[in-house]
Amino acid sequence: MSTIFALSSGTLPSAIAVFRVSGPQSLPILRQLSRRKVWTPKMMEFTKLYDSQRRIIDESMAVYFPGPKTFTGEDTAEFFLHGSQAVAQKFATCLSEIENVREAKRGEFTRRAFHNGKMSISEVRGLDRLIRSRTEKERRAAFGQMRGGTRAVELRKKLVEILSKLFVIIDFGEHVALELSDAQKDVAEILAEINRLILAWEGAERAQRGLEIVLYGRPNSGKSSILNQLAHDDVAIVSEIPGTTRDSLVTTIQINGIRCRLTDTAGIRPHTNDVIEAEGIRRAQRRLESADVICFVVDPESRSDDVANILEDVKKLKNPESKVLIVKNKADLKLPYPEVSSSGIHVVSSHATSSEGCQKLRETLGSLVDQLCPETNFLLDAELLRKCSDELTCSMLCQDAAIMCQHIEKGLEHIAELTQGTVTESVLDGIFSQFCIGK
Ligand code: GDP
Ligand code: ZN
Repeated sequence: MSTIFALSSGTLPSAIAVFRVSGPQSLPILRQLSRRKVWTPKMMEFTKLYDSQRRIIDESMAVYFPGPKTFTGEDTAEFFLHGSQAVAQKFATCLSEIENVREAKRGEFTRRAFHNGKMSISEVRGLDRLIRSRTEKERRAAFGQMRGGTRAVELRKKLVEILSKLFVIIDFGEHVALELSDAQKDVAEILAEINRLILAWEGAERAQRGLEIVLYGRPNSGKSSILNQLAHDDVAIVSEIPGTTRDSLVTTIQINGIRCRLTDTAGIRPHTNDVIEAEGIRRAQRRLESADVICFVVDPESRSDDVANILEDVKKLKNPESKVLIVKNKADLKLPYPEVSSSGIHVVSSHATSSEGCQKLRETLGSLVDQLCPETNFLLDAELLRKCSDELTCSMLCQDAAIMCQHIEKGLEHIAELTQGTVTESVLDGIFSQFCIGK
């Protein structure tokens, strides 16, 4: 087994460069470079480091962690050097010159931890999520995924209990008081929980990629003004000439810890002879397909049949999970709005030329974002949960205890995959290739 090393602290120059070493050579490396025999485990110590010609590399802090109680399960060492490119380069060269020591590949430390039984696959994926997290919500979701394994273990235990009940029914038939319907009730409960976990996962995935919020509506209804208020600065051109925003304008904001791409689209007019404007409208319509939230902005000057037509288009083009919010803008004018049939659609009024006038809109967007990305304590891979859910659904339809058992057993296999290492190397390659060097 080779010993691996990597610069784990990120881009140089920085205050400190942290090198992490893992493998059987960890202690010998520490001794050789420091020219010191004795290293007390887990004690951070000051030391000078020397190359093979006894020339100084750097002054550093270093620490030795003997396996197996380490992140990777192997002997490890860490070096805290001055964070310059020249120092890091020199140190890396010295390490590479030692036999059986080489630079780590992406995610190789974590991969060793996984292979040494230090981490479940849920934890590996959660760690990956944590490293990539950019917002508070993403950070919490990452810990939810790291904890997800414990939830899977509980689900597994419950399914095993149901199986043992069913085995009694199979073995003793009508002589026992147990009924198939009892088992079905238990399965239904687990199924409900699995379905909640699937929704949580989908929400976390949405949060990870960021939400698309699209401002849509006729020219001059106030879309650009709303975008400016939400973004707190002048990103869009606001003008009194209808049709100023010819193409889409995008800005990224955070709502309740979720990154949201806010798109101001060209105004929608039912009839236009302007080629550029027509193209703008087509692009705006395309935006609807990928939107998570569509803010349809209307104002007192909007015509009611235009509003009805646009709303029809929106419903046709949007994806089934996305939310539509009708924003009745220019509320300060205190003029009547066109009739809108808005059953099942959220409505909020706004006054986009003042910051306070958008407060209700901010709150409503916040609650829609929360619905799309619900807070969750546990995250488990939805693909496996779905497979399990399918099996359990089949098992519910069975009138025969033995066949019911077969489906539950298959469902259990998928849950087991969430808790232990029955993952192929190619799947692992896929996961770890996404990791940073030094993790
Ligand atoms: P867009 O074409 O939909 O992007 O509309 P704009 O944001 O460019 O706004 C068009 C005009 O309406 C501008 O003169 C804005 O100042 C004005 N406007 C926007 N929102 C409001 C509002 O809530 N109240 C009032 N009185 N005027 C507004
Ligand atoms: Zn505009």
